[in-house]
Parts: sequence; C-alpha cells; structure tokens
Amino acid sequence: VQAKNTACKYTLYRGTEDRESTRRLALMSDLRRAIDQNELLLYCQPKVVIKSGEVCGAEALVRWQHPQHGMIATGEFIALAEHAGLIMPLTRWVLEAAFRQSYSWYESGMRRPLSVNLSAQDLRDPRLIERITGLFATWAMPPEMMQFELTESALMEDPAGALETLARLKAMGVELFIDDFGTGYSSLSYLQKLPVDSLKIDQSFVMSMLANAGSAIIVRSTVELGHNLGLGVVAEGVESEAVWDRLQTLGCDTAQGHFVGRPIPTAQFNDWEAQSPWSRPAPVIEDRPLN
Ligand code: C2E
Ligand code: MG
Ligand code: MG
Ligand code: MG
Repeated sequence: VQAKNTACKYTLYRGTEDRESTRRLALMSDLRRAIDQNELLLYCQPKVVIKSGEVCGAEALVRWQHPQHGMIATGEFIALAEHAGLIMPLTRWVLEAAFRQSYSWYESGMRRPLSVNLSAQDLRDPRLIERITGLFATWAMPPEMMQFELTESALMEDPAGALETLARLKAMGVELFIDDFGTGYSSLSYLQKLPVDSLKIDQSFVMSMLANAGSAIIVRSTVELGHNLGLGVVAEGVESEAVWDRLQTLGCDTAQGHFVGRPIPTAQFNDWEAQSPWSRPAPVIEDRPLN
C-alpha cells in the first residue's frame, strides 16, 4: 500500500512538472514573437518624495499581454527571457519604448525621470552602452530624464564587469539605483566603490517592517547605511499609510508602492497624476531664444 501510494504521488508530480515545462517551452517561443509583434506593453509606477509628497519620477515595468493566456506575470517571463537568451531583444524593446515615453514628457515640459530595469545579461552586453548613447542622440534629451536600476544580485554575478558598465553609464550623467537591496551578497567595500546614487530597499523588508522586528531593523539600517555613504534611499512595496509614516520617521527619502500608486500604462500617467493626491513638481520652463 505504501509503495503504491508513493508511485501514485510520483506520477501526479511528474504530470504537473511536464505540463509546467511544456508551458514554459511554449511561452519561450511565444516570447520571441511577442517582442517583434507588439504584445509587450510599457507600464510605469510613480515614485514620491516622502518629505514633500511630490512625484519625482516613475519606474518602467514591462508587461506581456499574451493573445491566448492574457497577462503573463512579469517575474515569470523575465526569468524565461533570461534562460532563453532573450533579455537583449527584450531590453532593446523596453529602452526604445521608455525613451519614446520619456521624450514625450520632456517635450511637454515635465521633468519626470523614467527608470529602466536592466538584467545581469544586459550588463555583459558589449553593445548596451552604444545603444543607450544612440538613444540619447536620437531623442536629444538630457541624461536627467533617464535612470537605470540594477539588482544587487545581478551586480554580484560579475562584480568587476558590473562596476565597469556602471561607471560608463554614470559617465553619461544618468542616475543609477541598486534594486532589491538587501537580498544579494554585496560587501560594503564593493558597495562603496559603485558609482550609484540610491539604494532601493527590497520590498520584502518594507512590506513586513511593521510586523517583523528583523525587517524593521534592516530597513532602518539600510536608510542609515545609504545616507552615511551619501546615497538616496528608496523604499519599494509601500502598501499602507502606516508604513509610509514609519518610513518618514526613519528619514527614508522616496517611496514606491501600491499606497502611492500601482503600475499603470505609461499613456495614463498624466491623468493619474492630475487626479492623485500627490503634488506635482513645477514644470520646467525651457529657455527660448529671445527673438
Ligand atoms: P522590481 O524592479 O523590483 O519592481 C518592483 C516590482 O514590485 C514590480 O513588479 C511592481 O509591480 C511590484 N510592486 C510595486 N509596488 C508594490 C506593492 O506595493 N506591493 C506589491 N506586492 N508589489 C509591488 P513587476 O512589475 O511584476 O516586476 C517584477 C520584476 O521584474 C521587477 O522587480 C524587475 O526586476 C523585473 N522587471 C520588470 N520590468 C522589467 C524590464 O523592463 N526589464 C527587466 N530586465 N526586468 C524587469
Ligand atoms: Mg526595479
Ligand atoms: Mg525591486
Ligand atoms: Mg523586485
């Protein structure tokens, strides 16, 4: 009876696993097509300065609307793209969409930087820098309009190479963030060498900081560490006013999360901002020749 039970469970398990890998294989080939055929969408999520309540930028987050399966979870297809070697074409799509969006904000006088997530494989792509330089030239936009986010674990896959790529990005004048901070294994000496502007505390700590003393200590220490290194600190995954209040007490600079605003299609951002309780930064009046 025991053996039969085990066999039965095993079969069930195998069945699920096979279905799962079949789905993954199918999705991988669909993703190639999706990148070329406009199934990807660019969403973005606001970032707000905690002291002033002012919207200070947005993060670009890619979405995949599959014709049969609907929205595919972003974490799932980013992981698939990493396995299938599809990150570079995906990043190219995201960069093009993000520059186009950012330019339309810039052109209408809004100083609202858009940040793009880069993967470990992007950091190894010898053409990444050239591509981004080319996009700045095409759109004739100042570097302050774009920002980049690199996860701590992506940096640690090749610390020396990442340092070099970050230095080149920084030399363009863009702002850089370490994403999901606290979940990788960077050393303080490495961190100190990185030419980055801000740390983004991983949302797992932020979401549990009121219920879990360990998370609260990690958030507080990261705010101090960041500030002591001269860096800004962003909290991601801010889901409630209570967490917002706590972050304000701790002196955290910027908040991102459902309490502030959920990710929405980039084209809806202006309307969202107009009816949101967050204040708007003064529009930049462009210098025009006097004639
Ligand atoms: P991330 O860069 O750390 O982005 C934050 C994620 O947390 C986003 O998930 C966002 O929708 C979600 N989030 C924001 N606020 C809250 C909140 O208050 N509560 C909860 N529960 N979640 C919140 P998303 O969009 O599913 O993206 C997941 C990850 O996929 C991102 O994590 C990023 O690492 C990656 N990703 C997204 N877009 C891109 C992209 O264009 N390129 C690359 N390479 N990676 C991307
Ligand atoms: Mg990010
Ligand atoms: Mg993150
Ligand atoms: Mg994350």
